[in-house]
Amino acid sequence: MIEELVRRAGAEDDDAIEELSAIADTDPGRLTPHLGLLLDLDVLCPAKLYRAADADLVRRVVEQVDGGRTPGLLNDLFMILAHSAHPSAESALRRWSTQPPAGSDELYVNALGYAHEGGWAVGSDGRRRDLCGDTAYRWVMRETAPGADRPGCPWCASPLWVAADLDTTDADVAAALAHTGWSGRLVIETCHFCACFTTLYSQVTSTGGTTWWAGNTRPDYLPDDDEPEDPPTLAPVVGQALASPYQVSAWNQGGSTLGGWPEWIQDAEHADCPGCGEPMDYVGLIAGADLDDYGEGAYYLHLHQPCGFAAVNYQQS
Ligand SMILES: [Zn+2]
Ligand SMILES: [Zn+2]
Repeated sequence: MIEELVRRAGAEDDDAIEELSAIADTDPGRLTPHLGLLLDLDVLCPAKLYRAADADLVRRVVEQVDGGRTPGLLNDLFMILAHSAHPSAESALRRWSTQPPAGSDELYVNALGYAHEGGWAVGSDGRRRDLCGDTAYRWVMRETAPGADRPGCPWCASPLWVAADLDTTDADVAAALAHTGWSGRLVIETCHFCACFTTLYSQVTSTGGTTWWAGNTRPDYLPDDDEPEDPPTLAPVVGQALASPYQVSAWNQGGSTLGGWPEWIQDAEHADCPGCGEPMDYVGLIAGADLDDYGEGAYYLHLHQPCGFAAVNYQQS
């Protein structure tokens, strides 16, 4: 059945690609034996199809890049390697970051920068770090009390929105945040309006403290004549455990997720920590569709426990 889907995908059948993508999200390992054929048929997108690529597939992609015959496909091939997160993919991306292969001058990001697309990074100490967790839960929206007593956004005066109120005394929360090293209560408060324009940082404490970071820089393009807006009256609570950390949707109702991997609408945008400059750990995603029937885009939540910073950014199509 999968081989049939792969052949249809090779004939540019969008439904087949959709079905393969769903398998990549629920059980990517089922695709592993078929990825060679997928590569033979030049189906390179979406790169998440190659999440569970094995050493042999990665070797073929590395050889294709080193062969230099398809420089126009470099972006797609780097994306595949990033999503595979395979050790051989990592070492090849490290090598190309100092010895760029043919086609690199067309790219906006250094080879190793692609790691973010696969949810990992190489830190300034040269060590690899996974930015995402292996455990994910559905985030279900619940009505909250009106935020009238919340502090106002320093930029637009809208009451701040509690995008997450988590506590690792809940075993599910502890599992979802295990990769971040966080212990205790975590409140991530942001401006639902201004976060749509730039990454907003807050300083957080393990007792649930949250403070707008004074270093947030108001972008010039932020509208300044708008009236304050009430934030969403909804806030996420932890729902059922998901079978795979990739079962997330930035687009659809029910797609909001605590933990696991994000679905990016644009290029990956793991926020850099203002404390240390390293990419922050990914916490979860709130789909606009879960906040509002006409909602679009998605809020992405990030945390860097060693520095006590949280961040929220937003993407839309
Ligand atoms: Zn604001
Ligand atoms: Zn930091």
